[in-house]
Amino acid sequence: ANPASLVTVLFHLGEMATATESLDEDTFQLLGAELGFKIQIVSPEDEDKEILEQFDVSFDVEDDPDDLVARPPVVTVMGHVDHGKTRLLDAIRHTKVVAGEAGGITQHIGAYQVEADLEGEKRAITFIDTPGHEAFTAMRARGAQVTDIAVLVVAADDGVMPQTIEALNHARAAEVPIVVAVNKVDKPEANPAKIRQQLTEFGLVAEEYGGDTMFVDVSAKTGLGIDKLLDAILLTADADLDLVANPDREARGVAIEANLDRGRGAVATVLVQNGTLRVGDAIVAGTAYGRVRAMFDENGESVEAAGPSRPVQVLGLTSVPRAGDNILVTEDDRTARQIAEKREAAQRNAMLAKTRKRISLEDFTKALEEGKVETLNLIIKGDVAGAVEALEESLLKIEVDDSVQLRIIHRGVGAITESDVSLATVDNAIVIGFNVRPDGKAREAAHKEGVDIRFYSVIYDAIDDIENALRGLLKPEY
Ligand code: GDP
Repeated sequence: ANPASLVTVLFHLGEMATATESLDEDTFQLLGAELGFKIQIVSPEDEDKEILEQFDVSFDVEDDPDDLVARPPVVTVMGHVDHGKTRLLDAIRHTKVVAGEAGGITQHIGAYQVEADLEGEKRAITFIDTPGHEAFTAMRARGAQVTDIAVLVVAADDGVMPQTIEALNHARAAEVPIVVAVNKVDKPEANPAKIRQQLTEFGLVAEEYGGDTMFVDVSAKTGLGIDKLLDAILLTADADLDLVANPDREARGVAIEANLDRGRGAVATVLVQNGTLRVGDAIVAGTAYGRVRAMFDENGESVEAAGPSRPVQVLGLTSVPRAGDNILVTEDDRTARQIAEKREAAQRNAMLAKTRKRISLEDFTKALEEGKVETLNLIIKGDVAGAVEALEESLLKIEVDDSVQLRIIHRGVGAITESDVSLATVDNAIVIGFNVRPDGKAREAAHKEGVDIRFYSVIYDAIDDIENALRGLLKPEY
């Protein structure tokens, strides 16, 4: 069938379309049914699963519970700029590097492991060495959830700031438990009690105030409280998470950093998530493949085998993977190469196809009618705090029947940023801008990802639209 005849068929089905327009999933289904085809729409994630299935491998593997052993938690440090994330990561690393050779040169490979001592038991913790929620959410957008626990750093001489809340919301959206590090307590003007007080308003209540979040006073400068912070991370892991893996199987992991090194070729830092990665293994990392020629740890020392939660630099890939790409060990080189090639072909096809469409407010109404969704995720940005709060409060007061839920996953003052758009992408949220606009990068990203950004300057207009969407009444604008 040519485009013109398809348009005619659609017209008879009551759908207006032009030959160059991209159609939504439902219209495709309708068209398929009319023409006698069964149309199957495959997401990139499913497509990748299918490719792997062809080679009899899978990223998610079931392990026999008897084979599972505890693995170290993987931690990302987040917080407002200048609150001490980088210095804290340095302080932790210098006090506690595992097997740190005296005089060994520490290298930034993207993550490192330290050893803590909890009640006499030595236990490892893995820290992602790139602080901030941007990298964290960018990896989630690739489908990689590497972080088990977020450490939220708040400077005790400054207090809760916009990026503190942003980081908090990103961690929450990923359902990652939070430990609060109240930093810079060495400063005379530090007021750690104020931080606890302020964060209560955002639902993080310290244990000593009857809540269930661990707050630890630290100084990245003097090293005070670092041991307690490590204990708090382990205690939170033990209380909230069941971190186990099977070291006796072929490795599965994620690339957290990668670059092309002039002398060594493609270098990727791999965080092993399950199994054990060994020198000599055939691997595929996204569309890169190869054989592990050598591995190095954060001290630049050669490693033969890396078990669960262990970050290692891997040499031997034919090209550079992207941060967030998954890593799989395959039976042989040939399989690794073939998977990489299939993925590359799939990516080319996806590029040719239209940009991925995220949910829009109109789609939501439609999906709601069909019982396909029950939660509308929103991100609110506004020019002043009062307006953002007022809007949030009014939106949360909208009463609709129990089957629909409104979730405000992030709110903040200021322009709509790329980080807002990436959160919207990952959690399929709609962005509401109240008297604010996106910056250039955010506009570009929203366009590319098909994120719906709606602008309002009157609170009631915003409330009306959301209320109508929640009631399934919003009429598409043409
Ligand atoms: P980041 O932007 O969150 O990574 O913050 P940095 O780690 O770069 O720290 C910002 C500034 O605060 C630097 O000048 C640090 O030396 C300083 N700083 C960080 N932690 C502490 C601390 O515990 N005490 C004091 N007095 N200064 C600190």
